[in-house]
Amino acid sequence: MKALVLTEFGRIEVQERPVPAVHRDQVLIEVSATGICGSDVHGFTGENGRRSPGQVMGHESAGTVAAVGDGVDPGLVGRPVTFNPVVIPDDQRQAYAGREQHTPGRYVIGVRPDVSAAFAEYVVVPARNVVVLPVALATPHGALIEPLAVAVHAARRAGVRPDDAVLVLGGGPIGQSIVLALKMIGARRVVVSEIAPARRALLSRLGAAVLDPQDGAVVDRSAGVLGGPADIVIDAVGIDATLADALAGSRVGGVVCLVGMGAPTLTLDAYRVSTEERTIIGSFTYADRDFTDAAAWLGTEPTLAATLVTREVPFEQAQAAFTGLAAGDDTAGKILIRPGRSPDPGGTTKRSRVGHRSEDPLDTSGM
Ligand SMILES: [Zn+2]
Repeated sequence: MKALVLTEFGRIEVQERPVPAVHRDQVLIEVSATGICGSDVHGFTGENGRRSPGQVMGHESAGTVAAVGDGVDPGLVGRPVTFNPVVIPDDQRQAYAGREQHTPGRYVIGVRPDVSAAFAEYVVVPARNVVVLPVALATPHGALIEPLAVAVHAARRAGVRPDDAVLVLGGGPIGQSIVLALKMIGARRVVVSEIAPARRALLSRLGAAVLDPQDGAVVDRSAGVLGGPADIVIDAVGIDATLADALAGSRVGGVVCLVGMGAPTLTLDAYRVSTEERTIIGSFTYADRDFTDAAAWLGTEPTLAATLVTREVPFEQAQAAFTGLAAGDDTAGKILIRPGRSPDPGGTTKRSRVGHRSEDPLDTSGM
């Protein structure tokens, strides 16, 4: 099969690799599309230290079941599926039910270097990690379920209710998925702060109010849109400046949910936490239920799923796509890598200008 191999940091090559063997309780998936995650980009550059040369990455993926191992329902063959890339050892599953992402023995397909992952024509995953796609969803768009699960988990951790006024800081792929997760919960008052015009345009198409943080104080402008300070702020960037806006832009007694991982250490305005009793909540990846709920809900909004995709590129243009994202190009939404596609001359290299990368300076999904 053809696979995209990270041969060295900054370099991805199409190589011929054996189709991975499918063992008991496993499923072989013929990949339709795999999304490039912020964590893949920073793994590609070597910045986050969570990817290794020689590795085939890719954890946001969908395709069709091509074969199943012993112990798996043969009726799965031919069905469109995605998979939850977080693999939990069977003997820890019960103890960590409902918080599978905390399981000490877990690994992530697409992160663990010795597991061939989804930037390839085929990938093998445990059958229990497979989620059959809703019928309304185009198979390649099943790759959007994983980042949506990150967002659903963050919105749930923050405790968002339909009446809450919510400010989202950062409108890249995770901020965009958070807009969908808030829609799923029924929150109607949502504003997103995002610096890149193309991303603001995409967020508007998703139905969110947007503001440009360069136009003035985010706190004042957000309050203008929401009619007052936010009940909940979700920080999808995670740097000092956004945490400051999150604390200042939330009401007394409000909640700040930190999902962006822009910096390992942050300075915070402590009195806004102590004397004004705000709660800071962390959010990392997702539990199994967030993933299956994200899959079911996205099937009810296939048009919004399509809106999240900025372009689909063949293997031959993956290097250009990764290099562009690493340079902070003006890609507004998600890039899907599609094994079956033939090269589109110049399709991924035409760029009008260099934009800002306002979300995900290091990472957002934590993968
Ligand atoms: Zn991801």
